[in-house]
Amino acid sequence: MKYVVCVPDGCADEPVPELDGRTPLEAASMPTLGALARRGEVGRAAVIPAGMAPGSDVGNMSILGYDPARYHTGRAPIEAAGRGVRLGPGEVAYRCNLVTVGGDGTMADFAGGHPSTEEAAEVVAALQAELGSDEVRFHPGVQYRHLLVVPSTWADADCVPPHDLSGRAAVWPTGPAAPALRALMEASRSVVSRFGLAANQVWLWGQGHQPQLPAFRDRHGLEAGLTTAVDLIRGLGALTGIEVVEVEGATGWYDTDYEGKRDACLTTLAGGADLFVIHVEATDEAGHAGDLDEKVRALEHWDRRILGPLVEGLADLGPWRLLLLPDHPTPVALRTHTLDPVPWLLVDSEHDGPGGTYSEAGTAGSPPVPGHELMGRLTARR
Ligand SMILES: [Zn+2]
Repeated sequence: MKYVVCVPDGCADEPVPELDGRTPLEAASMPTLGALARRGEVGRAAVIPAGMAPGSDVGNMSILGYDPARYHTGRAPIEAAGRGVRLGPGEVAYRCNLVTVGGDGTMADFAGGHPSTEEAAEVVAALQAELGSDEVRFHPGVQYRHLLVVPSTWADADCVPPHDLSGRAAVWPTGPAAPALRALMEASRSVVSRFGLAANQVWLWGQGHQPQLPAFRDRHGLEAGLTTAVDLIRGLGALTGIEVVEVEGATGWYDTDYEGKRDACLTTLAGGADLFVIHVEATDEAGHAGDLDEKVRALEHWDRRILGPLVEGLADLGPWRLLLLPDHPTPVALRTHTLDPVPWLLVDSEHDGPGGTYSEAGTAGSPPVPGHELMGRLTARR
């Protein structure tokens, strides 16, 4: 048996007036998805446990079968794992954004004007040289997204993600570790401002110690791979022993290489893996941009460039089961993630299910199941 998990990040949405009250999932032309839903089973999943923030870190941890309420320690340590940064037992990782805070104290830009990765690497090197030490280590990442590793005595603080502060008064960290964090953030201004970029300081958030996730292989007895363009998902792979298969044309953007991801799945399964996860970020980016056309287009790319040929290719590999769901909704009207349950689809090549419609309305009547239970449901039939 081969297993495939398809994750169109943030694809669930809400009815949109421009689509005559339909959602992007309902409006997109997706003949293969429609046919799979008619022969499979659909339902709703609570991918974000009660009381947790609807981040991709939480939702994707659920999809991989790990209860975030039990295993999630923070976003930054997952990204650190994705970048190959190991945390010692007495250390925590923080996300370290390059941001622009206005003279009036507002969070003018959580992305610091989108510096290039090369520009940002110089800033981060200067931060390490002037403010870092053996115990306080800045690690460069991509564009405005970087990491800071510090002793775990710095862990106890409430930090607001900078993208939740856009255009509003910047709410600085509070709690026992806040003075140390605040001192470092304030000291970063003289370093960051020197570079003539829009960014003028760092913002620390998303902290956590190294999460202890049991290996996917040990839990399910299956060899798994995944492909993604996002460090967070790479990190979940690194932490669970799921092999991360890099696809050269994977961008995390609308122009990503859908065929490359599909072929990575088929090739990895043909090479002996039992299960493969295809993650595509484009639907989430379109939601954040409020771009309805791109969201619909990304879903149609999923259908035509991944699902159709994937189902044909899987037939050559024997019996298969497929699970499809997003990690949270990213409604285009709200341009941010929500806590609502998301629709899921499970298809078995040999056993037809009750059938249904894969959409928000098509699954609205089913009671939500915990998202982390679906992996067990997918792999229950061998
Ligand atoms: Zn997401």
